[in-house]
This record gives sequence, C-alpha cells and structure tokens, in this order.
Amino acid sequence: MKNLLDLKLSDLEDYFISINEKKFKASQVFEWLYVHREFKIDNFTNLKKELREKLKQDFNIDFIKIKKVEEGVDVKKYLFLLLDGNYIEAVLMHHDYGYSLCISSEVGCNMGCKFCESGRLKKVRNLDTYEMVEQIILIEESEKIRIDRVVIMGIGEPFDNYDNVIDFIKIINHPKGLALGARHITVSTCGIVPKIKEFSNLDLQVNLALSLHAPNDELRNKIMPINKVYNISQVIVAIKDYLKKNNRRVTIEYVMINMVNDSDECAYELAKILKGMNVYVNLIPYNETNNMEFKRSKRINEFKNILLKCGINTTVRKEFGGNISGACGQLRSKEV
Ligand code: SAH
Repeated sequence: MKNLLDLKLSDLEDYFISINEKKFKASQVFEWLYVHREFKIDNFTNLKKELREKLKQDFNIDFIKIKKVEEGVDVKKYLFLLLDGNYIEAVLMHHDYGYSLCISSEVGCNMGCKFCESGRLKKVRNLDTYEMVEQIILIEESEKIRIDRVVIMGIGEPFDNYDNVIDFIKIINHPKGLALGARHITVSTCGIVPKIKEFSNLDLQVNLALSLHAPNDELRNKIMPINKVYNISQVIVAIKDYLKKNNRRVTIEYVMINMVNDSDECAYELAKILKGMNVYVNLIPYNETNNMEFKRSKRINEFKNILLKCGINTTVRKEFGGNISGACGQLRSKEV
C-alpha cells in the first residue's frame, strides 16, 4: 500500500478522477496534510465518510521515527528509523535568515567517493518520496519551526534516486504542499550526466550544485569513481546545457583536501574550466572522518584568492556540525 505522502498533487488528482470523484478533492487532501498537518484520514472532515474509508483502503500515512537527536552550536542532527529498520540522518542548521535542513535521499550510497563517510555503507535502497517529505514534517513538528531551505545533500546521491527526488521536490515546492520556494531548494549531484540533462528540461527553478572536487580527470578518477563513467568534460557540457536552458547560477562544490586537490595548479586549472560559466565555487573545508588518509587543507584562503583573481566567484562553506559528526560527508548512522 502506498503512503499518501508519496503522491504529488497531480497524482492525487489522477487518483480521484480514477475513482469517479472530482479532482479538487486532491487539493482538499493536500490542505489537510500540508497546511493543517492532519495525518488521520478520519479527520479529513470535508470528505464524506465513504470517501475517507476508500482513501484508508488505498493509502496509509505511516511515519518514520526520530530515534535520536544530537545537538551542536546552531545545529542538530536527527537519526531516523525507517519502517523497515533502516536508518538515515538529516541535519538542521540555524542561520541568521532562518533554518535550513539537509536531508538524505538514499539508505547508503553507491558512488564510492573516497573521502566521504556516507558512502562506506553501500546503497541499500532508494528512499521513497514520503520518507523525504517526512524528514521535513517531523523536524518542523518537533522543533515547532518552519524550515526555510532544504538541501538534498545528506546521505545518498539524489540523481541515483531521480524519480522519487523529483516527486519530493514537486510536493515540497507546490503552493498547496509545503510551499517552499524553488529557489530555496538545492539538489547536489556528483555528476550523473543523463540525469543532469533530464533535470535541465524540467524547468523547476530549483538550485543545482555539482560536486566537482577535482579539476582534471586523472585526479577526479582517483577520488570519485563516478568520473570513470562521466568524466569532467561530459559533466561540464551537461552543466553548460543546463545553464543555457535555465537562468539559474550553478554551485560548484569543491572539498579542500590537504595535498590532494589544494595546489595552486589545481586552482588555476579549475578556473580555466569554469571561465565564463554562470557558476560560483563553494569551497568545503574537508571534514576529517575515520578515514585517516585525508586531512583538511590549510590552503583554503590561498586557493580561494587564486580563483577570485581569475574572476571566479568563490565562497567558503560555513561550517556546522563537526563535533556531532553532522557535517558534509560525515553522515553515516553509526547504528548500522
Ligand atoms: N551525492 C551528492 C550529495 C552529497 S552532498 C553529491 O555528491 O553531491 C555532500 C557534499 O559534501 C558533496 O559535495 C560531498 O562530496 C561533500 N563531502 C563528502 N565528504 C566530505 C567530507 N568529509 N568533508 C567535506 N565535504 C564532504
């Protein structure tokens, strides 16, 4: 049985039409779920009893559970227990402008980036759409807040679970859903080229981030196995195509690892690749993990200055959650 929170508004409209009901009932259900946050179908009082019974036969509204919360300065990490016993994590960050939430898109990850802890648990399965939606709903409920921004940068590769992630985005973005502005949603990919192309044609206005992390194939092959499938020039062509179709600046993520990708040459090479593109580079201070091989770069500022000198917009990612293992690349539920 499907969870009701798996359905986009248009899916719900199709459902009502298929059972010979008026399609506006879909909006009423969406309003119960996402405006009133009412999750008992029996309490959907503007639907007649018969219809509520039918809905209950066809859907459930089961919830994943918050299993543990760890707290740092301006940051909280949530461990969620899924209905099948798997675990995922999400990280809530408190900024001046409000709250942003980093959500997971898969149980484990198959991309195998050498520096990332999340990928040490191989992918077990995709998250269903409702499991992504519920990360937001449960945290908003437990913190009594509204989340302003959502980044799909937790455990998993969102474009390896493309359909569910797009449905998730459509639900949270819909004015009758969670009504999060598209510009307040960011999806980050390690560079699955065919999915970047599909995404380019969606016209969603959602922010796109690319985890590049190396300026040449030789180096990228060593730290990101996906590069052997889609190399840098293929990824850059896909991003250029995206930029042509969407007037949205793309974020290039670049994790700064000591003596691996932080040389002056790397900075110049990176600048050359990105020259003239509507992108900005977000340098991520490497968060050290159990994997002792990699250390944080001490050259972040030098690297940034070279990029700036070459005319590339560059920022350094603000750090959250290091002491609770809630930072980029550290999410991996220790429970599993
Ligand atoms: N799979 C997606 C989503 C992960 S986003 C992607 O690859 O984009 C998380 C970001 O943190 C990615 O850019 C990832 O490469 C980066 N990252 C991974 N491990 C890290 C670490 N230990 N320190 C800092 N950033 C890391």
